[in-house]
Amino acid sequence: MNKSLVTYSLIFLMLITLFGFNFFLSLIGNLLLIVFLVPLLIFLILLISFNSLKSKVKSCNQCGTIALGINNTCINCGADLDDINPKSDDSLKKPSETTIEVKAEEIK
Ligand SMILES: [Zn+2]
Repeated sequence: MNKSLVTYSLIFLMLITLFGFNFFLSLIGNLLLIVFLVPLLIFLILLISFNSLKSKVKSCNQCGTIALGINNTCINCGADLDDINPKSDDSLKKPSETTIEVKAEEIK
């Protein structure tokens, strides 16, 4: 074990003397950057794509078919999708309902 450690340390020292300490520092820095940035980038891309999909996806009020925001009219029945925003209406209604429920619980 000790001999192998000594040999490894010697090899490391040799490499440092050959390539220089800055090279190793930059290499480690780059590796750390890649290790930290790649998952972050993937996460960001996923978030952006998810948000764009969420905003693009529209559901028809008349027939209920889900359509991407490429067409302004429903694929199934042909109704206009610009005026209908069921998701935003739900998000507006739900918080008010929840706040009323919370107030009722506090009184009890
Ligand atoms: Zn429709």
